[in-house]
Amino acid sequence: MRTPQHSMQKLTGWMLILFSCISLNSCAQKNDNTIKQDGKTMEYEVKKSETEWKNSLTPTQYSVLREKATERPFTGLYDKFFEKGTYYCAACGEELFESSTKFDAGCGWPSFYDPAKPHNVKEIPDSSHGMMRMEVVCSKCGGHLGHVFDDGPEPTGKRYCINSASLVFKKK
Ligand SMILES: [Zn+2]
Repeated sequence: MRTPQHSMQKLTGWMLILFSCISLNSCAQKNDNTIKQDGKTMEYEVKKSETEWKNSLTPTQYSVLREKATERPFTGLYDKFFEKGTYYCAACGEELFESSTKFDAGCGWPSFYDPAKPHNVKEIPDSSHGMMRMEVVCSKCGGHLGHVFDDGPEPTGKRYCINSASLVFKKK
């Protein structure tokens, strides 16, 4: 037979478990200079906590760069945009693409056939959404930019399909 004391002990036990889960979770969140990619934890030069990222980015930039969201096609600022200049990472300011390599792929997202500097973007295998794709991230902060495909124009044959929200354009 259960006594009120027994139930009380049980409740205390559950509260302890719950409390340790919360503490563990807050510890995990403190380890904020890394980003999970392809099941591995990577470290990048630009280290900010998720709170700092949230405060320095707009909600759309945050969901794309930090949570790997994809903006709806044909809605981004730079989709039909062909001014001469340079595109920088909206999170850390790294130089990513030049307008001279931008082309209209008709896919609804800004498309480039080459990065400004090969080492400024990093390509990571991505098997999410039941597809095998190559994710493109900023090599300095790890921010999600988009994906790269092999159906681009010459001379590289690559199509870097990038979210406008990840980029900041500066006119030449
Ligand atoms: Zn960056």
